[in-house]
Order: sequence, then C-alpha cells, then structure tokens
Amino acid sequence: MADKNTKVPENVPGPWYVDNELCTPCRVCLDEAGDLLKYNADESKVFFFKQPETPDEVAHAQSARDICPQAAIAEDGE
Ligand code: SF4
Repeated sequence: MADKNTKVPENVPGPWYVDNELCTPCRVCLDEAGDLLKYNADESKVFFFKQPETPDEVAHAQSARDICPQAAIAEDGE
C-alpha cells in the first residue's frame, strides 16, 4: 500500500503521489494518465508531474490508481 512518507521525490506537492518503494515501473499507468504521470530522469520510477484539477484529470488519476498492479498510487498526500 502506498505510503506518503516514501513518495517518489519528483512528485509535485498535493494529494496524489507515486510511492518510491512500490513503483516497479511497469508503465501501465502512463496509458491511463499520461497527462499527469511521467518517468523520472533515469526511468526507474513514475511520478505525478501535475496534480489532477479537472474532472477528466481526476478520472485519469483514479484509473491509474486502480490499474497499478503494485498499489503504488494514492491520494492521501498533503
Ligand atoms: S502502474 Fe504503478 S508500478 Fe506501474 S509504473 Fe505506474 S505507478 Fe509504477
């Protein structure tokens, strides 16, 4: 289960984040929320470069969270 204390450092501040210890990265979330998520510089993790704001973006974030096989995405950050 994702933990806000172990966020990927590149996540922008806000409720949504990817957990640094859980992301493999398998990349399936990028198909769901490529407007919010991307690889870090060495492509070892995925992170939120943008917090969802519009209803469409929130739906994309929720789809990414639901499809992540590692349960590495959560929205209980700050
Ligand atoms: S689906 Fe989950 S494990 Fe896969 S890249 Fe995205 S956050 Fe990482």
